[in-house]
Amino acid sequence: MVLPESKDLTHLFSEETNARKPSPLKTCIHLFNDPNIIFLGGGLPMSDYFPWDNLTVDSPLPPFTKGIGAPIDPVTNDVLKADLKKNEKLHEGDIPFARALQYGFSAGQPELLKFLREHTTIIHDLQYQDWDIVATTGNTNSWESTLRVFCNRGDVILAESHSFSSSLSAAQAQGVVTFPVPIDENGIIPSKLANILDNWTPGAPKPKLLYTIPTGQNPTGSSLSDERKEEIYKIAQKHDFLIIEDEPYYFLQVGKYIKDIKERSSIESDVKPSHKEFLQSLAKTFLSLDTDGRVIRLDSFSKVLAPGSRLGWITGSKKLLAAYLALHEMTIQAPAGFTQALVSSTLNKWGQSGYIDWLICLRHEYMLKRNDAIDILFKYIPESPVFTINPPIAGMFFTVNIDASAHPEFSTKFESDPLKVEQHIYETVVKNGVLVVPGIWFITDGETTPAQPKESKESSNPNIIFFRGTYAAVSPDKLETGLKRLADVLKQEFGFN
Ligand code: PMP
Ligand code: PLP
Repeated sequence: MVLPESKDLTHLFSEETNARKPSPLKTCIHLFNDPNIIFLGGGLPMSDYFPWDNLTVDSPLPPFTKGIGAPIDPVTNDVLKADLKKNEKLHEGDIPFARALQYGFSAGQPELLKFLREHTTIIHDLQYQDWDIVATTGNTNSWESTLRVFCNRGDVILAESHSFSSSLSAAQAQGVVTFPVPIDENGIIPSKLANILDNWTPGAPKPKLLYTIPTGQNPTGSSLSDERKEEIYKIAQKHDFLIIEDEPYYFLQVGKYIKDIKERSSIESDVKPSHKEFLQSLAKTFLSLDTDGRVIRLDSFSKVLAPGSRLGWITGSKKLLAAYLALHEMTIQAPAGFTQALVSSTLNKWGQSGYIDWLICLRHEYMLKRNDAIDILFKYIPESPVFTINPPIAGMFFTVNIDASAHPEFSTKFESDPLKVEQHIYETVVKNGVLVVPGIWFITDGETTPAQPKESKESSNPNIIFFRGTYAAVSPDKLETGLKRLADVLKQEFGFN
């Protein structure tokens, strides 16, 4: 089937994007590798002077039969050796250092892009033909670039009413108003989003985009259902805004929490479902719903390979990606050559199938960690309407939701202010030797001029506060000690002893 072209949405570009002229030097860089041209055009140092000749790297070998955390053991032959060279490739996925460490290929090195494009067609069901990807230094960079490509000072964007604080700060620092969209334990509530937009105050700039973290949301841990995504996409079409899906946790989809240990034992011991089962279990992405080319997807290797790799990619329509490329040529140029060479070599040697094996094994590890954390929370935190734990189905965060008005001193010491209770609990848990992060740090609190109707921001229960924790960062025994400390403070404070 021939797919249609994406729509032209370049009217959503920022003044900065419209003002950016392509760097004229970049228009001739492709001739650098033309053997018929003696290239005197750019300040490219000779690769002879790059002080690295080769690099040998060991990584685990698919299908990772011992799991992914096991140390590499060369004796049992479960090691994959890569020998990266300056001037040659020993494998088709290798990027010779002479090229990887040179200027050029701002969109990313061809070997890496080829792998990522194939990966994209395996994971997503793209609905238009002119899509592509651009390599980035991770989703922090991708989001900052997104703001600059589309937003002017004074523009408005939508974001979940609690969202990743760095992303909100990046927008606010650029003078962009972050308007909150109500969420529940399943993420954005489509009817509330529709209400906000249908009742948008005349004279206030309409939102250019929705910034969302659909899977394992940071900080709430929630995940959007496929049905909600479809509704939200239709609202985006009606009101002509873009959807930016920031998806670092997409592959950490660990499934529903089953409390009964016996009942879940077969899932816990089934380390390797088939690739087909795994792929079918993944949530449908906004990218897969996108017929217009109004979704921009931000993927990162930070949570699936390593944060310090500083490598990610953006997927979207070529018409919109061109503006990112022009920006990157003046900012990051491209992700570091070492990173691209290493990651491309490993992924291409693993192959698409080996990478899926990796993701399956990684998901299994996080499923065990999630189960462990939620078991412990249920063990120590009293069963009561005061405390709510919504076991996450993806990502690395859990939240403990608390009805602040149940605190014995709510109306006296805390003057009926839930945020005062939140601050007090935060300080008390830190004093008791565990750090969880208060929800207030993630509040999306922008307002337009003129303001939106009051109802657009009403929350269902303003006395509910929450704390975010992660099960990703520590060993199981430390997790139990930490969560017990948290529970002890909550019991003490809310009179459950
Ligand atoms: N500034 C000047 C004056 C340059 O000549 C160059 C490289 N041609 C750059 C910046 C770009 O430097 P980098 O590769 O460190 O981004
Ligand atoms: N976006 C979200 C929602 C995150 O939670 C994080 C990491 O904490 C990032 C982006 C940063 O990702 P990266 O390391 O790819 O810049």
